[in-house]
Amino acid sequence: MVGAGIVGAACARALAHEGMRVIVLESRIAGGGTTAAGMGHLVVMDDSPEQLALTALSLELWRALRPSLDAAVEFDGCGTLWLAEDAAQMDAVAAKARLYHQHDIACEIVDAAGLRALEPNLRSGLAGALLVPGDGVLYPPRAALWLLDDALARGAVLRPGCTVDAIVPGGVRVGEELLEADVIVNAAGAESAALTPELPIVPRKGHLAITDRAPGFCRHQLVELGYLTSAHAMTSESVAFNVQPRPTGQVLIGSSRELVGWDARTNRDVLRQMLDRAARFMPALLDLPVVRTWTGFRPATPDKLPLIGRWEPTAALWIAAGHEGLGITTSLGTARLLADLVMGRPTPIDAAPFAPARVLGATAGAAR
Ligand SMILES: Cc1cc2nc3c(=O)[nH]c(=O)nc-3n(C[C@H](O)[C@H](O)[C@H](O)COP(=O)(O)OP(=O)(O)OC[C@H]3O[C@@H](n4cnc5c(N)ncnc54)[C@H](O)[C@@H]3O)c2cc1C
Repeated sequence: MVGAGIVGAACARALAHEGMRVIVLESRIAGGGTTAAGMGHLVVMDDSPEQLALTALSLELWRALRPSLDAAVEFDGCGTLWLAEDAAQMDAVAAKARLYHQHDIACEIVDAAGLRALEPNLRSGLAGALLVPGDGVLYPPRAALWLLDDALARGAVLRPGCTVDAIVPGGVRVGEELLEADVIVNAAGAESAALTPELPIVPRKGHLAITDRAPGFCRHQLVELGYLTSAHAMTSESVAFNVQPRPTGQVLIGSSRELVGWDARTNRDVLRQMLDRAARFMPALLDLPVVRTWTGFRPATPDKLPLIGRWEPTAALWIAAGHEGLGITTSLGTARLLADLVMGRPTPIDAAPFAPARVLGATAGAAR
């Protein structure tokens, strides 16, 4: 396993549970890459039928895992409120509710008064929302470490501070050392294309900000309906309102998207737009000091779907990368698909749309 972010950790765990001898090679610290910079919203998203299938499967797996997780993972089944600003957006809420019901995903349309009762710090005048109670939040780096610890308990071995220099047919090179394996998984996140150059995975920068403590300030993950548009369009720059209650009482504020390569510096304009947008939905946020801001790089693919499956051009190589802004959510679904594909079993959802072969223009050959 190359990479011990949440995707690599989840895949290592799944393969260790299959009885495989897993070695996890991590160039820095486990869970310290994009995973540590993410927001930790576990969310069903419906940008495409494939995304809906993978996120819904993943939410099921997270809820099933919840009783086993330790307190440090900070799993909170707070649900998501998708906010509608006007009647047209309420129509979109109704359409979203119909789609979710068709897929047996629990949800409830909330009117303006109901929304105010649920979240008094939202501005008045919002039209309503869709409540998705099965969504949740967690603390991503600790979730990654929990998954990794579970893999280690099943015999996996972690080599932190170990940079893979190259992936070759049937093995990986670390300095002078060649480590051979029947299955190599490139789970190096936004850096995965450095090892497998044909992968069309690019870093998509995001800013987050966290406030001082204000327990009870908000109770659900709050997301504007327009978030999907912001996440979908590969424009150079976009912001959307997205806030999360943390167990500390802090409010985590997102989110932005930029295509600026690996420039990790704070873009004050983008940060300002993001905070202005947050204040537009929650004016009371203006009274909460922001104590810290940071940036991270989502591993983005052109078709907004992760790459999960065998990489035909290189013997023994599999890919689990390119999860953009949903990798915390979809880590478990990814691990489930990868383990089923490696073991030659049917997968719980159609794995073909995620097959890495699609980026080579080849027919996706994943099992079902
Ligand atoms: C601002 C922001 C907000 C987000 N919010 C959410 C959210 O609310 N919900 C959600 O589901 N997702 C969210 N995401 C997305 C999520 O964080 C990512 O999709 C996910 O963390 C990707 O995990 P990963 O394991 O693929 O990558 P990473 O966490 O980056 O892990 C890859 C690992 O590979 C290691 N590595 C790289 N190259 C090598 C090498 N050559 N040798 C050895 N190791 C190597 C790296 O050191 C790193 O630890 C957000 C992301 C950002 C930036």
